[in-house]
Amino acid sequence: MSDQEKRSVIIIGAGAAGLMAANELAGAYHVTILEALDHVGGRIQTLYDQKTGCFIEAGAEFIHGKLPLTLSVATQSGATIQEVKGDMYQVSDCNWKKLDEIIEGWDELLFKMGSLPDDMTLDAFLEMYFPGPGYEALRHHTRAYAAGFDLADPVRASVRSLYQEWSKEFDKQYRIKEGYEFIIQYLKRQCIKKGCRILTGKRVKQIDWQKEEVTVYTSENEKFFSEKIIITLPTGILQTPVSYASINITPLLDNYDHAWQQIGYGSVLKVVLIFEKAFWKEQHDKIGFVFSDEAIPTWWTQLPFEAPVLTGWLGGPSAVQWDEMSDERIIELAIGSLSKIFRMNFEEIISLLSQHYIFRWHSSKTAGGAYSYETPLSEQAKQLLVTPVENTLYFAGEALYTGPYAGTVEAALSSAMEVVKKIVGTG
Ligand SMILES: Cc1cc2nc3c(=O)[nH]c(=O)nc-3n(C[C@H](O)[C@H](O)[C@H](O)COP(=O)(O)OP(=O)(O)OC[C@H]3O[C@@H](n4cnc5c(N)ncnc54)[C@H](O)[C@@H]3O)c2cc1C
Repeated sequence: MSDQEKRSVIIIGAGAAGLMAANELAGAYHVTILEALDHVGGRIQTLYDQKTGCFIEAGAEFIHGKLPLTLSVATQSGATIQEVKGDMYQVSDCNWKKLDEIIEGWDELLFKMGSLPDDMTLDAFLEMYFPGPGYEALRHHTRAYAAGFDLADPVRASVRSLYQEWSKEFDKQYRIKEGYEFIIQYLKRQCIKKGCRILTGKRVKQIDWQKEEVTVYTSENEKFFSEKIIITLPTGILQTPVSYASINITPLLDNYDHAWQQIGYGSVLKVVLIFEKAFWKEQHDKIGFVFSDEAIPTWWTQLPFEAPVLTGWLGGPSAVQWDEMSDERIIELAIGSLSKIFRMNFEEIISLLSQHYIFRWHSSKTAGGAYSYETPLSEQAKQLLVTPVENTLYFAGEALYTGPYAGTVEAALSSAMEVVKKIVGTG
């Protein structure tokens, strides 16, 4: 196809979805990516800690099982895919219990979730199918797991969608040894090689459109033109009509605002602590994950990479309340949690702390949270949101994926592939 025959596409956002879509379309289309930040990757961002030689993941860290697209891109990029090692423990009131299943009663829980005739929220399901004091622990741990892992508010989360995901949960987990951003940088290089323009520091504020004619305005009043546009903004931004990164679309799209509200979007506070030594090895040599009821409840190590690094994770609705907290207070609560979990003196642990990283996703101006989860109304909403508007406007991104890997990089890559199919199918 000659250069003049090629049609033009603007993609807003250079996260996994935007770069994947660009990589697929570049060559056959003139592709321009407009990204608000000064770097690509969005919710995938890797830092390097010189002292420990450890990659610090601000966002995505794990590949949750044999996820086809993620592993395929990772393999093409030449990344080293490393299986996550270590044992899982539940710690309650200083008692350590090695876990073979995520929650005691997991099989019964999954069986009932899987046989549910109609979808409902997790809270309603637990009250109906696991009532009374005998199931109190199961209800508590299930809600905590949904909030912690899926960042889901149990009052809104869909049982059907959680079941799809949880029934795969015991798959192996993997990390990219060189850091998750390695595959993002690979996609970026591929896009550039194929002639795609990637413009960072371009925060889009306005889209004016009519069939096959789009004008995009940035916050600096620059104008870009194309025949088609793919919007890959995070749900947290699309759910908030007036915010730093929100975009005005003219003419407005009927029912879209309402549809975005039907998708759940969770937050997380991630704390990475670098210590002088791996003091937890005195408790157990092969700790992978620790789940607890402390202020920061979930912790993990870097195994199989031996590094004196612990990552703390506070997910779900409670992460939002921590957003305004100072770094000092967060560190205090983090060390307090570790002190209770490991039955060690607070001062002793803090004296071993050499460096910390805090990632507050709720207050990220360009993400407004961490990742999506489904409510019983999400499916219908997504049907509307993934339908191309006049073969001109398209939405993509992790939240628009329907399948068992909700909220993941796989979801972002898959949604990009879906949108590409639609664009290529309609010319
Ligand atoms: C803390 C955390 C941990 C996670 N852990 C995992 C994990 O272990 N495994 C996993 O698979 N997934 C994980 N995820 C989820 C995963 O990171 C996301 O699902 C995925 O990266 C989303 O990609 P995306 O392209 O849909 O969106 P994004 O990466 O958010 O890309 C959207 C882009 O749009 C840009 N943008 C926003 N507004 C504008 C604007 N107005 N103009 C121009 N550009 C704009 C943003 O800056 C961003 O770069 C995690 C996420 C977080 C936050």
